[in-house]
Amino acid sequence: MALTGMQIYKLLPKTNCKDCGLPTCMAFAMQVAAKQKALTDCPHVSEESKSELSEASSPPMRLVKIGTGDATFEIGQETVMFRHDEKFHRPCGIAVRVKAKLSDDDAMKVVEKINGSVFDRVGQTLKVELCALEVDGVGDPASRAKKAADKSKVPIVIVGKDPAKIKAAAEAIKDKRPLLYGADASNIDALIEIASSCKCPLAVSAGSLEELADLTSKAKEKGVDDLVLSFDTKDMVKTLRSLTLARRAALRKNFRPLGYPALVEVLEGDAIDETVIASAFAAKYAGIVIIDNAEPWELLPIMVVIQNVYTDPQVPNTVDAKLYEIGSVTENSPVLFTTNFSLTYFSVEAEVERSKIPTFICVVETEGLGVLNAYAGDKISAEKVVKTIQEQKVAEKVKHRKLIIPGLLPIFRAEIEDTSEWKEVIIGPETAREIPGFLTSNWK
Ligand code: SF4
Repeated sequence: MALTGMQIYKLLPKTNCKDCGLPTCMAFAMQVAAKQKALTDCPHVSEESKSELSEASSPPMRLVKIGTGDATFEIGQETVMFRHDEKFHRPCGIAVRVKAKLSDDDAMKVVEKINGSVFDRVGQTLKVELCALEVDGVGDPASRAKKAADKSKVPIVIVGKDPAKIKAAAEAIKDKRPLLYGADASNIDALIEIASSCKCPLAVSAGSLEELADLTSKAKEKGVDDLVLSFDTKDMVKTLRSLTLARRAALRKNFRPLGYPALVEVLEGDAIDETVIASAFAAKYAGIVIIDNAEPWELLPIMVVIQNVYTDPQVPNTVDAKLYEIGSVTENSPVLFTTNFSLTYFSVEAEVERSKIPTFICVVETEGLGVLNAYAGDKISAEKVVKTIQEQKVAEKVKHRKLIIPGLLPIFRAEIEDTSEWKEVIIGPETAREIPGFLTSNWK
């Protein structure tokens, strides 16, 4: 959070000695606030002030990294309460629990399932980001952790309360930088020591935000500052309130003891309930949600919520306006056009693929608007479609002159036929999902 000139002035000697080249300490403070001078340009500023300034100018929510190398997951460093204020920066990650009661073989099957939970949606790859490995009750937590870490393609969260089990697991895979989840008032000293010696981030929970702030302050005093605030779903209203208050305290009041990302453990229960609850907390304000089930039907709704919430609202989601060839197209393949709004394009592309009829898709630049919005906003016209088709040299790719247009724009038909070589304009379906049936019935 940027400091004001007055906040910086309070850290200066206030002697107006002019050694910085400016007439007063206040003038110097204003220049530091405007980033035209560095605090170190004042030769008399104390070490204490320097460290205070560095602390005050650091982000209000800490960035926490879990894992290493390609298998690194980052959370935190969020800057706003509401997405429309700017954007949310680091998407919430789903962690799937590997239960302690499973045999080693069955536990590794869950790890494999996590590795395989990768989906493509509107041009982005969605996946399970973390493997939450329970260790309390596991006979040999070090061996279990080692096997899971060797097999897992995503970072590990070590879940437990027993310091001895957590220590054994953490020491076995400390080079993978797992998140240790399970510190509370009962075990905080032991877990701080383990997190410190293994150089791992630590997730901390407490009965109230006041107690939580005390525990994070204690951890920070002992050198463990990669912290995650953790909550569960025993009392969902309380957890939602706590998440909101913690974020507000961090971002609006710059309250450092709560300036950390959050984790929400969704407690065992009905799989549908779990999906709904995890989606709600992913939207507000969990950085990690821990769940039990890793079936695609459960993961995808949560992932779609995360994808939507973490999309930058100020940047239209677009694809390149060009000619796309779907499948093994030939000179007889159908040609259709759509807009460069990515959701529109990928919906059309997916349905064309489903039709199994190789097709050319001509994408018209509409500044990221869908068909109707583009038409209403004057971002697409029959003239622009004709010009785009010419620029993309579509006529060189096919020998016919039939063009399928979106069913929402039938008004374009006559003008395209009158002003271009595309003399047979076919009005297509209004929605993407009707494309397979339309192509099968109408494209001969
Ligand atoms: S050198 Fe430091 S103490 Fe002297 S006027 Fe500049 S800011 Fe103030």
